[in-house]
Amino acid sequence: MSNLKGKVVAITGASSGIGEATARRLAKEGAKVVLGARRTDRLEKIVAEIEAEGGEAAFRALDVVDLEDMRGFVEFAVERFGKLDTLMNNAGVMPLAPLEALKIDEWNRMIDVNIRGVLHGIAAALPLFKRQGAGHFVNVSSIGGHQVWANCAVYCATKYAVVAISDGVRLENKDVRVTVISPGVTESELANTTTDKGAQEMLDAFREVSIPADAIAGAVAYAVGQPDGVDVNEIIVRPTASL
Ligand code: NDP
Repeated sequence: MSNLKGKVVAITGASSGIGEATARRLAKEGAKVVLGARRTDRLEKIVAEIEAEGGEAAFRALDVVDLEDMRGFVEFAVERFGKLDTLMNNAGVMPLAPLEALKIDEWNRMIDVNIRGVLHGIAAALPLFKRQGAGHFVNVSSIGGHQVWANCAVYCATKYAVVAISDGVRLENKDVRVTVISPGVTESELANTTTDKGAQEMLDAFREVSIPADAIAGAVAYAVGQPDGVDVNEIIVRPTASL
């Protein structure tokens, strides 16, 4: 029997890419999944498909930038399935550009979603995890949380922040597991948020080699499926032939 059976896992940014693939994968392995994102039409369809295959799933509209909305998302998971074992802070945006382009709105958007969104997830779920005496954050960083590229300074800064925040939660809480998932180039809709032409060309070259989102879902399933006393700190998953 899968050790994911009966686990309740809430996933932010579950309407496409890595979040969607993880919801589908974990549900198939017996977890009860709660999907959050802004595009609820997508969430509704994914949940219906999971249920049609015999899985258990629910969805709720979620904007991770809004702390109260994030609290509502966590409460919804508990109301629906009676507890929350894992919160996957996955929602992210990546509008790449050189700093000189001064796309300050895009900088702020990345900071809001990629950093503040993760912190809001922690604010919403940490008190619950402490009451439960157990819980698990799966925070999605990136290979960009280990290395900086041109056009990627702000995005990478947000992903370095995810690593730092995750370390902080781990150091301060002996009853909470924290896993950082750091994907390399993965098939998803993430590149669609880039508006700068030069950065888009760089991305196109980067994305010539990519892995399916289910490859990242497999890493998440491995980490979530470990016993409470075993904390997988980080998994880096990237294409074999990546740059
Ligand atoms: P996608 O663009 O396919 O998915 C991003 C998800 O985030 C969508 O479901 C989107 O849903 C959601 N989202 C964006 N803004 C918000 C918000 N304010 N509130 C709630 N949800 C939001 O990209 P990926 O699947 O690739 O991205 C998932 C994570 O993986 C991100 O953190 C990304 O940085 C990271 N990553 C991806 C890599 C890749 O190559 N694909 C590599 C390294 C890391 P909606 O618009 O419906 O709200």
